[in-house]
Amino acid sequence: MRAMVLEKIGEPLRAVERPLPEPLAGEIRLRVEACAVCRTDLHVVDGDLPRPKLPLVPGHEIVGIIEAVGSGVDPARIGRRAGVPWLGHTCQHCFYCRSNAENLCDNPLFTGYTRDGGFATDVIADADYAFDLDGDPVSLAPLLCAGLIGWRSLKRAGDGKRIGIYGFGAAAHIIAQICVWQGRQVYAFTRPDDAAARRFALDLGAAWAGGSDEPPPEPLDAAIIFAPVGNLVPAALKAVRKGGRVVCGGIHMSDIPAMPYAVLWGERELVSVANLTRRDGREFFAIAAEAGVKTHTIVYPLGEANRALADLRAGRLNGAAVLVP
Ligand SMILES: [Zn+2]
Ligand SMILES: [Zn+2]
Repeated sequence: MRAMVLEKIGEPLRAVERPLPEPLAGEIRLRVEACAVCRTDLHVVDGDLPRPKLPLVPGHEIVGIIEAVGSGVDPARIGRRAGVPWLGHTCQHCFYCRSNAENLCDNPLFTGYTRDGGFATDVIADADYAFDLDGDPVSLAPLLCAGLIGWRSLKRAGDGKRIGIYGFGAAAHIIAQICVWQGRQVYAFTRPDDAAARRFALDLGAAWAGGSDEPPPEPLDAAIIFAPVGNLVPAALKAVRKGGRVVCGGIHMSDIPAMPYAVLWGERELVSVANLTRRDGREFFAIAAEAGVKTHTIVYPLGEANRALADLRAGRLNGAAVLVP
């Protein structure tokens, strides 16, 4: 098999040949059809997240065909399409796993971070954490994290009508479509100089698009921050009404600046979203199909993973980068 491997933090991924691994008990092996590139992959390769497995194959938005199963896994799954998300495994006996919060498990494994991921031709996954999927692999791949984390963020944002989204990338472009389908109004905040992202948001049905330095035309019920920029926290708190909520959807963010308490007062809430549960997945894939979510993708050959990461880092993408072996 071929894989793009992170050997040392901060260095480009290296193309390597490896022997094809065999799935152990409870595992499956997939032939990767597509793997989307997520901002979290950047945080992993840049060393923003502590203690990645090294050497590491990044990538946690994997769609592929199951080619082999380990003991205990139904052999009927061989030949079927499945998706492998960030949540790779949980212990099922810690406090969080027993409280319906496996996303917060004390002993988890994360795909493309603490176990090898999908920037490869083949990948091993825990059978119980892979979702059965149907459809075009490239279009499906961004749903596996941008979609799932976006969905969890939107649930956390509540039922309000006016939803602000800061950072209009892969997650935002999926969640905006769901908001519009649900009859909500989307207010898209982009980098002040990014007219293309604002046009993209409006094309997807956003009611308003502006720079993140602008106030919305009316106070928002909730706002979701997907951009990893701590300065956006006080900006978003100022944009929501009394009792409004700001959800931080990213895994890493630059420091949040000091702010006057008045920005939070008025029963505004600031919360974060971490990882996903398998229940999020079951809910989300059904809703994405019903809402007819269409992902905008930019395809790169697997060997050009470094270029895809660089384009994401530079903010050159409207939509999601997807690697295809
Ligand atoms: Zn656990
Ligand atoms: Zn991700």
